Amino acid sequence: MKIREITDRLYETGLFTAGERGIRELEALLTTQEEEELAYLREKARAVTNQIYGKEVYIRGLIEFTNYCKNNCIYCGIRRDNTNAQRYRLSKEQIMECCETGYALGFRTFVLQGGEDAYFTDDRVCGIVSDIKAKFSDCAVTLSIGEKSKESYQAYFDAGADRYLLRHETADEQHYRQLHPPEMSLENRKRCLYDLKEIGYQVGCGFMVGSPHQSFDTLYEDLNFIKELEPHMVGIGPFIPQKDTPFGGEKAGTLDRTLRLLSIIRLMNPHVLLPATTALGTIHPQGREMGIQAGANVVMPNLSPVEVRDKYKLYDNKICTGDEAAECRHCMSRRMESIGYRVVVARGDFIS
Ligand code: SAH
Repeated sequence: MKIREITDRLYETGLFTAGERGIRELEALLTTQEEEELAYLREKARAVTNQIYGKEVYIRGLIEFTNYCKNNCIYCGIRRDNTNAQRYRLSKEQIMECCETGYALGFRTFVLQGGEDAYFTDDRVCGIVSDIKAKFSDCAVTLSIGEKSKESYQAYFDAGADRYLLRHETADEQHYRQLHPPEMSLENRKRCLYDLKEIGYQVGCGFMVGSPHQSFDTLYEDLNFIKELEPHMVGIGPFIPQKDTPFGGEKAGTLDRTLRLLSIIRLMNPHVLLPATTALGTIHPQGREMGIQAGANVVMPNLSPVEVRDKYKLYDNKICTGDEAAECRHCMSRRMESIGYRVVVARGDFIS
């Protein structure tokens, strides 16, 4: 199979061929060693991005506001059973301070991410969201706080939340069970994503690249699921082992495969908001720059207070844990300028 043909058809139809043949097409794109063919994939994905988003890169200020979590996801460093994690949660005042700092630095989207922490009841979450929206009315608020009931999602939305990130993690039932404890299910994860869409959020799904037991088959299912859901955002980054989890001894996902998948996702979903993630920056010093060059158009610098940064350890060796928000912000501008892109002061909504 010719890589160029597969690439062109992927863009034209938005899909791989159905069935076994499609899985082999995906495998071909993920394994070819022909540099020119690979460059074709990457450059086509970038050209598609440029047509829609130009050379502008959107920034999101990430506020990791709690690392308490009731869940026990096998891969995650803040899982319930990790007794080595030093738990913390930010107060509403601390969260508001992060937003103030962020606003002054040009952030117009705040992403509140955390474990599933019972302390943050719906009332507390709504209070935080509505305070942020009242004070920073030109900003978008994104929540990333896991699986909730439809009523809870509706309440956050009514309080002013604009977007919600909930990676589906894998669209394959068996693989899902290999990554999660028995009390969690792919069915519920998907239910959440569809509820969020129905309510009217801009929704993001996604997965880790190179998670244990991932295969061409499961990746093929991930890509098909993304097409089916039609999310506004897709977050992917390499799996990176965290030593205090059962997957502590597993291999990390690779830069190369993550970049190829970013390009593939862009070609299949031209308008999607696609971040070059911190995990990508963790496995390679220029990972995020390469992610942008492969078709990503969003970066998410950290706005969390420096005192708590190294406690939000989903995986080991996370970058930027010692830096102040301003340093991260300016570093990001420099990085994007170094490859001919520009970080913009804007909410950075989905362009349909
Ligand atoms: N509790 C929220 C936020 C989870 S953390 C939720 O359930 O959505 C955000 C993302 O980090 C997860 O969705 C997962 O894909 C990623 N992540 C967790 N552990 C990781 C690891 N070891 N390596 C790379 N990414 C990881």
